Amino acid sequence: MPLVVQKFGGTSVADAERIRAVADHVARSRRDGNDVVVVVSAMGKTTDELVRLAADVSATQPAREVDMLLSAGERISMALLCMALADLGVPATSFTGSQAGIVTDEVHTRAKILEVKGDRLRLTLAAGGVPVVAGFQGVSTANDVTTLGRGGSDTTAVALAAALGADACEIYTDVPGVFTSDPRIVPEARRLPRVSFEEMLEIAATGGRVLALRSVEFARNHHVPLHVRSSFTWEPGTWVGEEDPEMEQAMVTAVTHDLSEAKVTVTRVPDRPGLAARLFRALADRNVNVDMIVQNTSTDGTTDISFTVPGADLAVSAEVAAGLVPEIGATGVTTDDQVARVSLIGAGMKTHPGVTARTFETLAAEGINIEMISTSSIRISCMVRADRAEAAVQALHAAFELA
Ligand code: ASP
Ligand code: MG
Repeated sequence: MPLVVQKFGGTSVADAERIRAVADHVARSRRDGNDVVVVVSAMGKTTDELVRLAADVSATQPAREVDMLLSAGERISMALLCMALADLGVPATSFTGSQAGIVTDEVHTRAKILEVKGDRLRLTLAAGGVPVVAGFQGVSTANDVTTLGRGGSDTTAVALAAALGADACEIYTDVPGVFTSDPRIVPEARRLPRVSFEEMLEIAATGGRVLALRSVEFARNHHVPLHVRSSFTWEPGTWVGEEDPEMEQAMVTAVTHDLSEAKVTVTRVPDRPGLAARLFRALADRNVNVDMIVQNTSTDGTTDISFTVPGADLAVSAEVAAGLVPEIGATGVTTDDQVARVSLIGAGMKTHPGVTARTFETLAAEGINIEMISTSSIRISCMVRADRAEAAVQALHAAFELA
């Protein structure tokens, strides 16, 4: 019998009615001849509320206790869903991450999965039941409850699908799939019937919020086909899988944007070997994830180095950079959080010249200044003023005829 892992996000299990609708769908999938393993997120905004509660109670918030607290959200939804399934005559059993055998490292609040045992899930399936697993959590090698980082239920679902050899992993959410752009900004954006893992990785990394980046990496590495779809319409959504070698790849598949990055500039860095290394080593040691970097050729023996970081890391990045200024002989540090990254993604870029030129021409025609540029073989990203991001996305979506 085909085995499918079905993951339901927070909005899909937000209240009693939604939970009963999910139970109906699981029962129907079984009647259609599938074995089903379910992964649930916490109901609605539960995790946000728990985060806020912790902040109200404590300034210290030991990470072990944060995980114990946050993992409670998924326990509520898994138990309620099993009850709703019982009403439909479907034998279902809930499992915490620990009971499901999801073993992680000991890095609380952003643990990585080391191993998925899944013995009890296999036994439940063999007995004709539906295992319902709490997403976003596991048990560390030191036997403590861990969580996988916000949005981690997607990763739980993909990891279970890989470990159990599932035929597909369905990610149910409140949108009908992956779109050519954010439909709130580009009303004529289209649902993509399928995208490759590589494209989905770039989309997830540049602001497309449908899937957690790590879950896509996991799916690609373990060849798990993903199906992102709506739990409100139950219509087919977007398949994410291997690139189809028979098919002509679209030059541009999607336009994304991300307002969460900020820019740091270190001014007049002397042009000597080793100084950039010192700067980025110091940032790495503080766990700052640097994205774009721009350094000009020097004219008078000094050069400005600009780089972007997640907005949440701006303060620490500025502090690190400012601390190095005297030592490396630069003149200062400036920061700017009014920037946005706009990205074009398309597997066909590899073979079509001219995408970059057309991108720059499109932005120029809108009078939008490009402050930084970075590319991969299937992505072009431009840093622009935050208040021009929407215009940039709309213009690029139109220029590449994605509607
Ligand atoms: N409940 C967790 C969160 O809100 C995990 C998830 O939903 O994927 O981040
Ligand atoms: Mg989520």
